[in-house]
Amino acid sequence: MKVLKFGGTSVGTPERIRHVAKLVRASGRNVVVLSAMSGTTNTLVEISDYLHKHNIPGAQETINALRQKYAEVVDNLYAEDSTKTRVTERLERIFNYISRFTEGEFTHADEREILAQGELMSTALMQAYFEEQGVRSVLLPALDYMRTAQGGEPDMKYISTCLRRLIELDPDADVWLTQGYICRNAYGEVDNLRRGGSDYSASIIGAVLNVEEIQIWTDIDGMHTGDPRYVKRTWPVGRLHFEEAAELAYFGAKILHPACVLPAKLHNIPVRLLNTMEPTAPGTVIANFPPDGTIKAVAAKDNITAIKIKSGRMLLAYGFLHKVFETFDKYSTAIDMMATSEVGVTVTIDNTRHLAAIVDELKHFGTVTVDPDMVIICVVGDLDWKNGNDFCALAVDALRDVPVRMISYGGSNYNISMLVKAENKVKALNLLSDKLFENKN
Ligand code: ADP
Ligand code: ASP
Ligand code: MG
Repeated sequence: MKVLKFGGTSVGTPERIRHVAKLVRASGRNVVVLSAMSGTTNTLVEISDYLHKHNIPGAQETINALRQKYAEVVDNLYAEDSTKTRVTERLERIFNYISRFTEGEFTHADEREILAQGELMSTALMQAYFEEQGVRSVLLPALDYMRTAQGGEPDMKYISTCLRRLIELDPDADVWLTQGYICRNAYGEVDNLRRGGSDYSASIIGAVLNVEEIQIWTDIDGMHTGDPRYVKRTWPVGRLHFEEAAELAYFGAKILHPACVLPAKLHNIPVRLLNTMEPTAPGTVIANFPPDGTIKAVAAKDNITAIKIKSGRMLLAYGFLHKVFETFDKYSTAIDMMATSEVGVTVTIDNTRHLAAIVDELKHFGTVTVDPDMVIICVVGDLDWKNGNDFCALAVDALRDVPVRMISYGGSNYNISMLVKAENKVKALNLLSDKLFENKN
């Protein structure tokens, strides 16, 4: 058994839904995870935003536009009038449910309920399409098995027990269909695995079912050497080690949700990135490959703030870093990158919710300077210094025309991170790509 996850663009139009159904049928008896149709989750976020701002007409107008869009999809997707009627009724129940939030108070829990509707709609559309095609699909409702524990981590034991039970209820299905992204939290409330979280759903499901492979079907033929939205020429990367993929996902390669690699890695399940629009392209395989001493790709993580703590005293004396880390820990703020010297330490964060309080406390230990609007540029590959290659020299040389605020290498064998101003991101990515992948030209 495999897990096949199809992202928003892969199910973004009736034509694409038909195409995905064909791919699924050709793949055998597997678990299929769907995202919401592209644009839907953004629209649900917009509706929630209007509701938070008490702009009821704005919310209603946006709900109606979405309702209209889905009416057109239903009209186009199905051949039988009876299917159209049945699916329209199902979607109407969802839209009426969303509309009810225009009355009364609107809370963050209500928002999460609204955000969950996109995946509920895409799976309802697909299930009815399968039915019309004579494919026996069984819907596994994610809200009945996908759950996070206190602290937000997936509750793997619970998920495994509930999901296996649901599958055993109908073990002869042609395909098991389920929603990505949505879950319940430790309090049983509807929640989600953060934007882009369907990849994470697929990986969690793959891990608990111990499948043979997790396939992430998207709109590009695998992980590329750079982000094609910013880099002029990029090439698909055939193979990635789990660690390399995790670094790339964490440091901004949007093709993968940052948390998605871990469950697959822990269970040693290969992850294959494939292109729905070009199903025969080889894509990228992520697995436990032996070291190969090559640079694979460059990614960028936005919205980074650097915080420098400098003191005249011997700053790195025993206990100092502990105090600094403790301050970030107290405010549940993760540190991405750090650099130390005799008189100072700089760390970077991407969550600035508690920045003012953190800076206030750090002032007890030294002079604090904050640099906002930075970007981490991350070169990823098998970069072990023992390979004797000049990875660092290459990366630094490529960025000779870009001021680099901070560099980190050696934390793992897999990345070199460089901090630059956000305004230099595109230039830095292209310079690195030209230099590091020039042999691919
Ligand atoms: P889906 O909706 O299928 O989950 P996403 O939009 O989340 O798809 O991810 C695919 C997109 O990721 C690509 O269209 C591409 O623009 C972007 N992307 C960013 N960095 C990379 C990279 N290094 N390789 C491939 N795609 C990347
Ligand atoms: N639909 C969700 C989003 O747009 C989850 C996903 O697509 O992975 O973020
Ligand atoms: Mg995605």
